[in-house]
Amino acid sequence: MKRKQTLQVNVGWVLIWGWAPVVIQSMTNTPTRDVFATTMQIKELVEAGSELVRITVNDDNAARAVPKIVKNLRDIGISVPIVGDFHYNGHLLLNKFPELAESLDKYRINPGNVGKWEKRDDNFRQIIDCAIKYNTPVRIGINGGSLDDDLLSANMDENSQLENPKTAGEVFIDSMVESALLSVEKAIEYGMPENMMTISVKMSDIQDMVKCYTMLSKKTQQPLHLGLTEAGWSAKGITASSIALGLLLQQWIGDTIRVSITPEPDAPRALEVDVCKYILQTMGIRNFQPLITSCPGCGRTSSDKFQILSKQISDEISAKYIEWWDKYEDFTSTNIAVMGCIVNGPGEAKNADIWIFLPGDGEDPVIPVYVRGKPYRNLKWDKVYEEFMEILVDYFEKKI
Ligand code: SF4
Repeated sequence: MKRKQTLQVNVGWVLIWGWAPVVIQSMTNTPTRDVFATTMQIKELVEAGSELVRITVNDDNAARAVPKIVKNLRDIGISVPIVGDFHYNGHLLLNKFPELAESLDKYRINPGNVGKWEKRDDNFRQIIDCAIKYNTPVRIGINGGSLDDDLLSANMDENSQLENPKTAGEVFIDSMVESALLSVEKAIEYGMPENMMTISVKMSDIQDMVKCYTMLSKKTQQPLHLGLTEAGWSAKGITASSIALGLLLQQWIGDTIRVSITPEPDAPRALEVDVCKYILQTMGIRNFQPLITSCPGCGRTSSDKFQILSKQISDEISAKYIEWWDKYEDFTSTNIAVMGCIVNGPGEAKNADIWIFLPGDGEDPVIPVYVRGKPYRNLKWDKVYEEFMEILVDYFEKKI
């Protein structure tokens, strides 16, 4: 274990710290006041593999809905811890609705959004008092877009007086870290136990975000929640998040992760959970489900059949994720390769447990499947998907 040994923070039954697996979390985008829609989306996120789910608590209606959502989840057997996301009025809502305060497993506080001027400390203290009263951990969630103006201005002024001033970007990063550490210190001063706080310092620029978390990691023992905020749309968001989180995880920084991509309209919300799983699994940090290696196709590819087959296998594995995770011992660690031709396929797929090669342009029209490096069976064109899935299940059941 090379990961930094951060303090253990218990969020419901989930442990976040340096000795536990890196925890995947996600966030809903349904109106929290809509109890049914939010319950269903949390179910979708959990079924995809989310281990914590955060929901916005922005007004009275949302506050009233939270205990109902939590009850619904528990009634259908979902025990995922629920995190309440608060901005501006968190202190009011938590005090006005004790059932809300009690039903949540963690409160997310953004110190830049708890109030202005002299009210800031008092509002922050009220949330910390609730957390202590209900024995609920908090995340001190600093966000580059809402960094405490007073702190940043004071630091910029002080920097400008220096003989060799830092760049504005460097002062900004210093201020993000300082804001996080000051908030933790203040919470401890108000009576919050040290092992009930995680920290995040999210920003949308990858280089700044990596510098910020790297600096913070050297200065605190609190578990770190990693995230590139406002990562962007679709492929850009996935790429940026993967690079940002990957650079930090590679340094063994980070105890829990969330990917904040803008989903395509009507795309499943669970995409952000899938991206988290792929980041951790492709980096060799955690295993979740079989990884499918497939080639991009080229001039040797004779049809789009291998692309369709890759997608069909991937979709079936995702659909059976929970059932097969429980049922098959080797499910999480199996590697599958789907290749578009036989010429380079064996070399490209040599690390897979099960390989299938579709015939490329000019090759014999046979579809060989290899298991653990040895030829196993040739499949028929018209039933290639069905026959391959039978082989895969036989492999999981250790029949082959
Ligand atoms: S495996 Fe064959 S079809 Fe696929 S990219 Fe390589 S050469 Fe092309």
